[in-house]
Amino acid sequence: MTEYLLKILIVGDGNVGKSSFVHRYVSGQFNKTYKMTVGGQERFISMTRLYYKGAMGCIVMFDVTNSTSFQNCHYWKQDLDNKTMLPNGRPIPCILLANKCDLSQWAVKAESIEKFCKANGFLTWMETSVKDNKNVGEAMRRLVEEALSL
Ligand code: GDP
Repeated sequence: MTEYLLKILIVGDGNVGKSSFVHRYVSGQFNKTYKMTVGGQERFISMTRLYYKGAMGCIVMFDVTNSTSFQNCHYWKQDLDNKTMLPNGRPIPCILLANKCDLSQWAVKAESIEKFCKANGFLTWMETSVKDNKNVGEAMRRLVEEALSL
């Protein structure tokens, strides 16, 4: 058996479900945590090169009920592409996750996501619900598969 250690990043605006995703993937659980902080988090914050260093794959996540979090994916992807590169010179594989798909009040159209995904070099996009455990394992599998095939 061969074991691999892969660094996978997850970026996106505050409150889109990143911590919940990691927690769900690692422990299989979903804890409804209520954040006290309101405002000031739903924004793009440029990450340091050190954070990106050695990453083999990345998830860019937004919240389907929050159009700003979708628009900011542009900046998240740009920041990633500016600061990472595989040894072969290619950008690291990246998947776009439309989280909280269990909620009915979508603020982003599937066709806009599809268009953005294609135009910005993502492998693919998937709708996820960390809450209902939809596509969490599948998204990670897809990304890891791609990371290992390079
Ligand atoms: P982060 O700031 O991106 O790490 O976001 P969190 O993981 O802290 O999640 C923010 C809020 O969204 C929390 O209240 C979560 O319980 C909630 N949340 C996360 N994923 C989902 C989901 O798939 N559906 C719903 N309805 N809520 C979610």
